[in-house]
Order: sequence, then structure tokens, then C-alpha cells
Amino acid sequence: MFTSFVNLQYPEYEIITPQTHDSYHVRTLTVQEEERLKASFVTPSKITEHLNKCIYDSLVKKPEKIKTYDDFLKQVTLKDRDALLYGLYHITYEDIRNYEVQCGRCSKTYQVTVKASKTFNTHPYPDENVLQRKVEVPLPISKGVTVVIKQPTMFNELISFKTLNNQPGTNIDIITETLIIDSFKQSPEDGEDLIWDDPTDIIDAYLSLPPLDKKKIHSEYKDKFGQYGIFLKMRSTCIHCGEEEGLDLDLVQNFFHMVYEV
Ligand SMILES: [Zn+2]
Repeated sequence: MFTSFVNLQYPEYEIITPQTHDSYHVRTLTVQEEERLKASFVTPSKITEHLNKCIYDSLVKKPEKIKTYDDFLKQVTLKDRDALLYGLYHITYEDIRNYEVQCGRCSKTYQVTVKASKTFNTHPYPDENVLQRKVEVPLPISKGVTVVIKQPTMFNELISFKTLNNQPGTNIDIITETLIIDSFKQSPEDGEDLIWDDPTDIIDAYLSLPPLDKKKIHSEYKDKFGQYGIFLKMRSTCIHCGEEEGLDLDLVQNFFHMVYEV
């Protein structure tokens, strides 16, 4: 009867997280884990929960401070997760296969396969404070309103999905867009400062903004946090119309699709 292979070591890959600068080692997924992923019927909001668990289970080395799954969720930013997922994907499959591209010109979809390591770029966050840092951004159109932005962790994402998932008027895109908002503040000329920091209030406040304020929030986020991470860039040519375009691959969005088609 088969128990396990003797002294067999799975291939490992070390990842230094680009924003928190921690070292993790992931091992390849097993066929069994892959089959489990394929079998799990997942709604969009469940996908990230499965991904987080999948990455955690594949860790063979992690920093001292990460003792539990909860620690892991709180100490890893969403940009760090991109890097871990890249590592997991790279060590399991080597190539990025069946990545689905939608052509910017003709809107038809097609699939590409690329050598993962050829697409890889990293831009590390320059400081050690990414988990604590809050940045105040005065809004250009809604005068007197300040938004406080942050780099969300996997834990922030989980809480928001749990709190907001079944609420009318929200969808996964809006939840994801507002994860970078810590709170809204307003200082009226007469009266006390107002602060909104509850996830539901943040979404309602966000939806009430003029689009130029929204644009300001996201450009500030990109400048302060979002530009730091890993980037998977490639050029691809549409098989339908011949348009050539540059792509930023998003493994989180495509992970299940890609695993399923392997
Ligand atoms: Zn096309």
C-alpha cells in the first residue's frame, strides 16, 4: 500500500515579498491539491479565500512572526500576495498557460502561453512601514473632504468581502476598489470633524463622489503604494485581428481558469 515516497523533496521557490520584504518558500502544488482546486465550485468572492489558503498550505518556510493563518492574512499585502502566487504558479507549472486575453481592438478573447520568468519584473517598496502607513489625500472636487488611503492586506480584503458581499448596491469590483480606503474625513466650518471608517459607510461615501475625486484617490494610491510590487508584462498578438498589445498579467484573476485548463 502506498504511504508516501521516501525522502522526496518537492521543488521549492523563494519569494521576497515586494512590500513587506519577508522571505517565503513555496513548494509546488501536488496533483491532489490541483484536483481539489478544480473540483471546488467557487463564486468570485470565494476565489480569493481559496487562493489564500492554497498559498498558505504550500509554504515550506515562512518568517518567524507568521505563526498562524491569521498572522499570515494580516502581514501580507495584496501586492505581496501577487508575488507569492507568482512563485506558486512558477514552481508548479513553469509556464503561464492558457492565460485568457481580451483584445483591446476587436474585443474577442484568445489564450496565450508564456514562460513565466520572462514576464517577471519587480519594484520593491522602499520603506519598512507599508502595513502601518496611512496617507491623507484632500479631494480636489469635494472640497473639505479628505480620504485616508492605505495598502490593504489579505485580512482587510477578507473582512470586506464578508461584511459587504450580500449588501445591495455593492459588487466585487466596488469592494475591491474601496479596499485602499481607510476612512473619509470631513471638517465642516462649523461643527466637529466627521469620520467614516466602517466598510459600508466607506462604500456609500465612495459612490457619492464625483469621478474626478475617484481618479485622484486611485492615482495617489498608485503613487504611494500600488507602483510597488511584481509585474508580469508581455506583448501579444491577437489571433483574430492581428492587433499587437502590451499586457499586464493578473494571476489572481486568472488562477483558477489556468489551473482548470492545465
Ligand atoms: Zn483582436
